[in-house]
Amino acid sequence: MSDLSFFDLPIKPALLNNLESLGYMQMTAVQATALPEVLAGKDVITQAKTGSGKTAVFGLGILNKLDVSALNVQSLVLCPTRELADQVAAELRRLARGIPNVKIITVCGGASTRSQITSLEHGAHVVIGTPGRVKDLLDRGALLLDALKLFVLDEADRMLDMGFQDALDEIIAFIPMQQQTLLFSATYPVTIASIANRVMQQPIMLKIEGTNDAVIEQNFYRVKANHERLAGIELLMLVHRPERVLIFCNTKADVKAVTQAVLDFGFNALALHGDLEQKDRDQTLIRFINKSTTVLVATDVAARGLDIDDLDMVINYHIASDTEVHLHRIGRTGRAGKQGAVHSFYAAKESYKMQRLSEFLGIQISNQQLPQTAGYQSKPYKPPMMTIRLSGGKKEKLRAGDVLGALTSENGIHGQQVGKITLFDYCAYVAVNREVATVALNKLRHDKIKGKTFKAWLLKD
Ligand code: ADP
Ligand code: MG
Repeated sequence: MSDLSFFDLPIKPALLNNLESLGYMQMTAVQATALPEVLAGKDVITQAKTGSGKTAVFGLGILNKLDVSALNVQSLVLCPTRELADQVAAELRRLARGIPNVKIITVCGGASTRSQITSLEHGAHVVIGTPGRVKDLLDRGALLLDALKLFVLDEADRMLDMGFQDALDEIIAFIPMQQQTLLFSATYPVTIASIANRVMQQPIMLKIEGTNDAVIEQNFYRVKANHERLAGIELLMLVHRPERVLIFCNTKADVKAVTQAVLDFGFNALALHGDLEQKDRDQTLIRFINKSTTVLVATDVAARGLDIDDLDMVINYHIASDTEVHLHRIGRTGRAGKQGAVHSFYAAKESYKMQRLSEFLGIQISNQQLPQTAGYQSKPYKPPMMTIRLSGGKKEKLRAGDVLGALTSENGIHGQQVGKITLFDYCAYVAVNREVATVALNKLRHDKIKGKTFKAWLLKD
């Protein structure tokens, strides 16, 4: 965290007051370094690691410049994945709470183009999307950028990794001159420099090193075989009792095997890999994010761009073959000043990876001892919440408040027992405290919401 306060910067009072209500008291290092330049209208390239608070840098830049009275697209943000775009949109909406009527929409692949065109026709101030779909909408003339003031490339390196180079090139051709461009990236390969050259004017380059924001403790354990890795996972969980753990595997087969093993230990676990359909992927992520599942086991590709914060623990079943990938994995814990722990298993033959990693991190890596025993008291535990799936969503005009109202009305449960409510077009996921899950389920099954009865299912552990 920095000593500089948001209040030292020329930010609209409505935005400042809301920052306080969000609990953003001090700026992170990235914010203190980049925000003054962004607010001054400069083109800025920012290199910083995950979890350092970059969204608020461009988010405040966008909102501070925004003229709500003109309903046209004033800012465009490109993100590598739909999940990331959704998360950026959510953060922007939170930041925008102090300003009424800001229209922020997301346009990503995997959702209907038709409905996105309709939303654009209704007007938007800020458009957040993935490169493929944004390009498509530009080509069709559905997305107009004449009034663009700010163009943001978030996680530019990931977008290139995912093969969006061509789409980016084509989008850049639509960007009017004279607007401000901000580019964020964890790394800065030449391919990004060439994009930057084409769309930016004398950009300021900022590189925020610093481990001063996130505190990440890294532990390495040398093992001989996979059963030792699994036994290690069980011990670490029983000893540290994390609320949410992300376990990274290098292959899909490992994801399946590890998920099964963790289930056999008695914990709740879900797998995330490339074979899942979008619906199952959404459902899995929701159950992990809303604390209905303790363990998520994932491949790097499946977890790419996924921005889950507040993880207590990240486990590397195998060390990633690539140092950047390792850094990306561990960046998911210890966010914004919170303590996080990373546990990595490696075999003797992976020593070369360890060598590279220790050179890169500039630290001495030594083999640590796993806890020898979990103690007598320690048993597997369940996550605090359970998820109910409801057969109605945004298209039925359901809002989170309607669902909350139904749950907490007569003979229902307490507001504090309701967790995250996530709405899709045709369904909703509602997290409720495990102890009152059956009561909540019956309420949602029998009570009318918005004058209608919906189907509801409890997602089994
Ligand atoms: P990045 O894009 O750099 O990976 P995010 O913008 O997603 O990081 O921020 C990571 C987390 O830190 C988010 O949960 C965000 O709400 C929180 N955060 C950002 N800025 C601050 C701040 N100044 N004070 C407290 N929390 C913050
Ligand atoms: Mg980010």
